[in-house]
Amino acid sequence: MSAVGVFGGTFDPIHLGHLITAASVREIRNLEKIIFIPAFTSPHKTDIKSSGGKDRLEMVKLAVECTAYFEVCDFEIKNEGISFTIDTLSMLKEKYSEIELIIGYDNLIKFSSWKQPDDILKLAKLVVLNRKVKDEPDEKDVYYKSAFFVDTPLVEISASGLREKVRTGGSIDFLVPEKVKQYIYDLKLFKD
Ligand code: ATP
Repeated sequence: MSAVGVFGGTFDPIHLGHLITAASVREIRNLEKIIFIPAFTSPHKTDIKSSGGKDRLEMVKLAVECTAYFEVCDFEIKNEGISFTIDTLSMLKEKYSEIELIIGYDNLIKFSSWKQPDDILKLAKLVVLNRKVKDEPDEKDVYYKSAFFVDTPLVEISASGLREKVRTGGSIDFLVPEKVKQYIYDLKLFKD
């Protein structure tokens, strides 16, 4: 049986950058499926106010509901508090023998500051998506060396850019799935 991909993030909101690269990494790495796991509070974003966990989870559900190889897991949202990948992977490891942890290239530079990075690598392979970055990770970094780089399409969409667009009345057409766009408008997310 092939491995499963685990893709965590704040997903505030989930966007086509996440979805296109996740579909691509699944194909390239021959993964059985990708499990999207919205964080309740990301350890690296404790100072940033994000939308409620329920809304972010709902947007992820709407985004993936028609794609058979995408799944959503509410473990981190249900647990509340700060969401540590090591805890989530320990839980998933009871069910899946082979896990690939998917992160964007921008996150690789921070990986050494994640909780128990070495233990994370005992539970999962680190798989890195293409993404434009300001600071290049250090090629000599031990985590850089253990990562698998995947040549996914470069999609220059960020959740922060989308929130700013909504706040200032700009269009988010074709940047998020239609149902996610409607959810954002119906609940007036990102307006304050
Ligand atoms: P923000 O702009 O608010 O920081 P974000 O767009 O980076 O958010 P997150 O939900 O924090 O979105 O990202 C979850 C994961 O997806 C991270 O590993 C991030 O690197 C990756 N990611 C986000 N956007 C892209 C993209 N356009 N292409 C590839 N990977 C991405």
